[in-house]
Order: sequence, then structure tokens, then C-alpha cells
Amino acid sequence: MPNYIVFLGPPGAGKGTQAKILAEELGVPQVSTGDLFRAMKTQNTPLARRVQEIMARGDLVPDDLTIQMVKERLAEADCERGCLLDGFPRTVAQAEALDELLQNTFHSQVGIVPLMRISEEEAVRRISGRRSCPTCGRVYHIDNDPPKVEGRCDVDGTELVHRADDEPEVVRQRYQVYLKNTAPLIDYYLDKGVLAEIDATQPIETVAADLKAAVQKAIPAK
Ligand code: ADP
Ligand code: AMP
Repeated sequence: MPNYIVFLGPPGAGKGTQAKILAEELGVPQVSTGDLFRAMKTQNTPLARRVQEIMARGDLVPDDLTIQMVKERLAEADCERGCLLDGFPRTVAQAEALDELLQNTFHSQVGIVPLMRISEEEAVRRISGRRSCPTCGRVYHIDNDPPKVEGRCDVDGTELVHRADDEPEVVRQRYQVYLKNTAPLIDYYLDKGVLAEIDATQPIETVAADLKAAVQKAIPAK
């Protein structure tokens, strides 16, 4: 049965950073809806332009579009053994759609939901120093997790970018959107008995070790 892990937490909590580390360890892909939406940038269609406008404001892309995109992504061959969902679901409607999809199509369910929490101030601080690789999606921090060569991705050498929606005002808006629309998922997954709170304020390596232990406990290797 494939394993699905859902990373929950506000922007800047370290979901992408940790999903990348864990994906390597488990040998299953990281599926980031933010990365998938950013990849639409190259499409010059009315829909792609609308998505970029929504992202620039820090609001959520409509559920129907997001759910359809995830459905298509999870059907791809590399997700056969499961995946790490980073940035999805972000609303209760998305979580319900995911449960239905996993149950009906993949005869599976969400195995564990690591919850990573940080304050709004820490989110602004972390994201102000975030640099991202537009090619592979790896994220860095200018002080906490710098690349080996300044401004270049360690993995593929691409020039790193500071995302337009990583400006402090947009981060604050995204944090409020998280509190209003996404934080209700804490109770949703608590009720299902799959929530695992991880102290996301610790250094990256410590968070990674805690996460690995929580995942091994919830999803023992076969
Ligand atoms: P998210 O995917 O939750 O929005 P990221 O993984 O992109 O968050 O991390 C946001 C920023 O914070 C990045 O610049 C990353 O390098 C940095 N970061 C991630 N985890 C930690 C941590 N535990 N301590 C300090 N900085 C971190
Ligand atoms: P992220 O890369 O996870 O920080 O997401 C960047 C932006 O993409 C968000 O601020 C939203 O505009 C959009 N987005 C990503 N995932 C979702 C989702 N599950 N539902 C709606 N919008 C999303």
C-alpha cells in the first residue's frame, strides 16, 4: 500500500526543506503544489495568469483547480509508492477530496501528518532570507542554510531567486490565510489520529531527526 505524508504548517515552517530531506531517505517524491503552480508561469494562458495573480497576493488558488492538479500528479508513475505532500491540502475541502482520492483510487489513506508550527515573526524572518532554486525547488536560507556557492543551487547550479511572494507584507497575508483556512486541518487530522507535532523552531538537522523518528513510528518500514 502506498504511503502518503502530509506536511502541515504555516509558510516558512520548513515544510519544503524537510520534505526534500525525507523524500531522499524514503525514495518517494515530494509533491509541492506551490512548485506546481509556479511551473505554470511559463504558460501564457488566462488560467495561468490568474494563478500567478492569486499567488502574488498570497491568497489561495481555488480548490477545484488545486484538487484536479493534485489528482493528475498523484496518478504519475513516480507516486506509485506514495509521496510527501508539501503545501496540500490547505483547506478542509482539499483534505476531504484527498481522503476520497486516496481511498477510492489508491486504496490507501494519509499515514502521518507532521505539524510544524512557527510564529508569524519567525515566518517573516525565515522567508526574508529564503532563496529558492527555480529548477529543482530546493530552498536555502542566506544565514541558516546557505548554498556552497553564493547565489547558486548546490544541486544543479541554477541561479537562486527570492520569490516575489516572499516579501514581508505578502508573507503576513499568507500567514493569516494559513490561520483562517489551513489551521482547521489540525483538528481534522487530530480526529483521525494521524497528527504528529514536531518542534519546528529547532535547527534543520534536529527537526529532520525528529521527523524521521515520528515517520518510522507511524509507518514502519516493510
Ligand atoms: P515552507 O516550505 O514551510 O514554506 P521552507 O522549507 O521553504 O518553508 O523554509 C523557509 C525558510 O526557512 C528557508 O529559507 C529555509 O532555508 C529556512 N529554514 C527551514 N527550516 C529551518 C529551521 N529549522 N531553522 C532555521 N531556518 C529554517
Ligand atoms: P507555497 O510554495 O506552498 O508557499 O505556495 C505558494 C502559493 O501557491 C500559495 O501562497 C498559494 O497562492 C498557492 N498554493 C500552493 N498550494 C496551494 C493549495 N493547496 N491550495 C491553494 N493555493 C495553493
